[in-house]
Amino acid sequence: MTLQPDPNASICTDWYLTTWDANSGIIVREIFLYNSCEIIGNGSAGTSTTVKDSINVLAKQFCDGLSEQQMQTINNTLNEYNTYNCATKYLSSYFKTSSTQFKFCIENVSGNAQYHPGQNNISFSTNYAASRVDILEHEIYHAYQDKLYPGGTLQYSRINGVAQAGFANIEFEQAVITDIMHGSTTAFDTYGTLEQREEYTKWINELTILHTSFPRFNATGTPAEVAAYNIFITKYNSFLSEFNSMPNNPYHSNTLNLVPQAIINLFNNIPLNCQ
Ligand SMILES: [Zn+2]
Repeated sequence: MTLQPDPNASICTDWYLTTWDANSGIIVREIFLYNSCEIIGNGSAGTSTTVKDSINVLAKQFCDGLSEQQMQTINNTLNEYNTYNCATKYLSSYFKTSSTQFKFCIENVSGNAQYHPGQNNISFSTNYAASRVDILEHEIYHAYQDKLYPGGTLQYSRINGVAQAGFANIEFEQAVITDIMHGSTTAFDTYGTLEQREEYTKWINELTILHTSFPRFNATGTPAEVAAYNIFITKYNSFLSEFNSMPNNPYHSNTLNLVPQAIINLFNNIPLNCQ
């Protein structure tokens, strides 16, 4: 006798977000996210919520004291991040490949959010900030910088409210990638001039062939490649210097002659056919 599946039967899976204790490896919390059901046979689909949880590898830990709603909010923002744009898609797979585990908090920090260099921790200041994918985008880029710069980026961070030399380098690089991905001019919006925004937009348009491509750079390649790289660095540093000289720029610091490692690595690895 052959068992025939009941045409109306379904297999349902309950999906949980699991929190482990970092030291002991013991599961300290599981929260129910949703269930998804596969109908066997020809039945119509169920009414379950289909929240994709494809990035939960990044969401393995939460600070103590977060409510289930807060954890769900962060998880939703991570899911959104996963496919938000070409750079977030690339970085999401980069961090999955390197098995990086982030820890997320909602706590009293200045600004919307902070990435804590060397710790893979991201703290949002409010529930609203935790729901914003553009804020997460900013902080995960800082995590990427932390991985790419030799010795990490703690040395270039704000320590006890004091911006260390290189802080402006790090924030400017973050602004450039945001502006490339979004066709914006965040680097010069609040404190820059119209002329600066126009020059900066022109540069980004050239760099990305009007947002249709990413450049590739090879500092030790053919003479033409070396020349292209040097032009990029010169232009980049000149905008960095303007960025750092804007009156009242909260990201001002002494600058360092740092190669913008993260953006170059992103350019050289992001799929050119990414849509
Ligand atoms: Zn920042």
